[in-house]
Amino acid sequence: ATAALFVLPFNSAKAQKANPDAKMNAFIGDIMKKMTLDEKIGQLNLITSGMAITGTVTNNGVEANLKKGAIGGIFGLYGTQQVREMQELAIKNSRFKIPLIFGLDVIHGHRTIFPIPLGISTTWDMGLIEQSARIAAREATAEGLNWVFSPMVDIARDARWGRISEGSGEDPWYGGQVAQAMVKGYQGKSMTDADAVMACVKHFALYGAAEAGREYNTADMSKVAMYNYYMPPYKAAVDAGAGSFMSSFNVVDGVPATVNRWLLTDLLRKQWGFKGFVVSDYTALNEVTNHGLGDLQTVSALALKAGLDMDMVGEGFLSTLKKSLQEKKITQAEIDLACRRVLEAKYKLGLFANPYKSLDPAREKSEPMSEANRKAARTTAEHSFVLLKNDNQVLPLKKANSKIAVVGPLADNKRDMLGTWVIAGEWEKSVSVLEGIKNVVGNSSQITYAKGANITEDTAFMARLNFFGQQMVSIDKRSSDDLLEEAVKAAKKSDVIVAVVGESQSMSGESSSRADISIPESQQRMLKELAKLGKPLVIVLFNGRPLTLTWENEHASAILDVWAPGTEAGNAVGEVLFGNYNPSGKLTTTFPRSVGQIPLYYNHLNTGRPYTDGPAKFKSVYLDISNDPLYPFGYGLSYTKFSYTNLRLSKTKLKGNETLQATVTVTNTGGYAGEEVVQLYIGDPAASIARPVKELKGFQKLNFQPGERKDVTFNITPAQLKFYNSQLKYDWEAGDFIIQVGTSSSDVKTGRVNWAK
Ligand code: BGC
Repeated sequence: ATAALFVLPFNSAKAQKANPDAKMNAFIGDIMKKMTLDEKIGQLNLITSGMAITGTVTNNGVEANLKKGAIGGIFGLYGTQQVREMQELAIKNSRFKIPLIFGLDVIHGHRTIFPIPLGISTTWDMGLIEQSARIAAREATAEGLNWVFSPMVDIARDARWGRISEGSGEDPWYGGQVAQAMVKGYQGKSMTDADAVMACVKHFALYGAAEAGREYNTADMSKVAMYNYYMPPYKAAVDAGAGSFMSSFNVVDGVPATVNRWLLTDLLRKQWGFKGFVVSDYTALNEVTNHGLGDLQTVSALALKAGLDMDMVGEGFLSTLKKSLQEKKITQAEIDLACRRVLEAKYKLGLFANPYKSLDPAREKSEPMSEANRKAARTTAEHSFVLLKNDNQVLPLKKANSKIAVVGPLADNKRDMLGTWVIAGEWEKSVSVLEGIKNVVGNSSQITYAKGANITEDTAFMARLNFFGQQMVSIDKRSSDDLLEEAVKAAKKSDVIVAVVGESQSMSGESSSRADISIPESQQRMLKELAKLGKPLVIVLFNGRPLTLTWENEHASAILDVWAPGTEAGNAVGEVLFGNYNPSGKLTTTFPRSVGQIPLYYNHLNTGRPYTDGPAKFKSVYLDISNDPLYPFGYGLSYTKFSYTNLRLSKTKLKGNETLQATVTVTNTGGYAGEEVVQLYIGDPAASIARPVKELKGFQKLNFQPGERKDVTFNITPAQLKFYNSQLKYDWEAGDFIIQVGTSSSDVKTGRVNWAK
């Protein structure tokens, strides 16, 4: 309705085709001509709902601030009524009826919680990944939101970093695939649709490379490493049309990302062609002062000049830009550019045309936590589980006539099912593993439950796990000996022990780095006692990161890694434990044997004295442990078995833009139907710079009936051979290439080709 107030100069179809943004540009240009400086700066200010509700924005009521035009968006406020009231206030008080944008950390689902992003990534199923974002968008818009701070696409090679749980692991190409699926899912067919949100790609850039995995730490690397291994997912998200980006807290090449002009303008906009807006991370501008780049006024001016458009919470822009303009430290054109980008985002979301487009109380009732959404979350969770070990086919468990001990602090537990970042997720509505197991077996087997151990008994660790004063982990009133005794008793009566152990919700995520990434000691003590009984011991592992599992790998009969599966956790675990779904997840991060091996990743460079396990005079190996991971990238077992035979290449000599076909025969040689992720890796042993020993370049997730055999073909073109050389030129170089197809990064069939220019 508001759009009609303005006369649009460009309405001929021809003009519109020549410049698809002409209408938007004219519309926004018209408003901007009339906006005051204060109103423009106000658009660059993002406040939290806490600030809005308590009215602390610049120590004034929110209404007064809306009147002044001092607020561009709000995050943390949702619910159709609350959003409507706030939006009405904004429209009523804004001279040009500029709507607010409503954002939230919707990370792996809004109300219906899906697996944590690291878990979603281990599905290797782009359809499921896109669907999870689509459902999150539908639920979020049903409560009035139009902007989500997701996907997080930071590549991470360090399992100590707590936020490795929020990304898609260590591979740049795979990370890009996931980033694109998420952006598509969030933004839907058109961002103007009532059920579409704008994605915000974070954290730009290199946050995942924080040194020593310590939160918010410095990242430092060569440009070649940046371009080849860390930047691809961000770039992929731009290519998918992501509407916004969030700058990261860390420095990039010495300059904090939030004020880094090379990063936010030269790379993101000029090289990659990003057309959206950039928001800072939470109070990141204020934090740049801690990096030592000057006071708030100085760094705010730097940030604006660098290409930052919106300031999250810190009000550096709001409180200093006017002064900086008067002092000629910034220009009017720089303010205009940022303001224009924020207004464009609102326009692209269709909020000028209808600021209330998503506010439909009927949908608010029917969409969140619908049966269909929960079912999708359950399916996604089932596909995300990675079977790390399964001796003697102890899994799947028998549904009937068995006696099962279900033990461990995460078994009868709802809170820890959801994992990190669940702002609107309601843990009370999640399904515990104990419930899920009972749902599957009913009365046909005997289930005995015992808690067995506390999540941790390290009180200093516990205190750090508490989140904003919320008690996240507590110690049982019973003594740890009593807990253990009860578990041993339950186990003795049973045929099989299912131990549900690992990390609780707040052990991974933001501000949750760990130097020791093993299962906490109190739980290990229980596992060790149970292992002594000599009965099949199945570990159901909860974790927001790769853990060191050397003891567990040696002593447990089976390990099913379930990450943090979300609302439907228990049901999904039940379905998989008892074989209603055959696990098909594959790791997207390397599991080290010891924390001392970190960083450990599959796509590493060779050394000049390549590592071999055989005798060598000068060993590029630790004296105390092997260099190999415990579980490599791409690894994951199934209840069935797949054999790979006969890798054949369509040619061994190629030239220019020819296509190479690599075909392998995959056979399901086991007794269960199952899915297999067939993976393609390419090595480039002759290049102008040292290249990784192998890099993932493709995969296919396929279904196989027992006994079924398929020829699986990958078409390879020179586009897949490209990399950034030391001049940062993106191209491929003639020479030999090693083609590898297999079931994990370390179990492949290999061939070699020569590709001439
Ligand atoms: C995190 C972001 C998040 C923001 C808003 C920051 O501390 O780094 O990932 O989107 O807070 O909640």
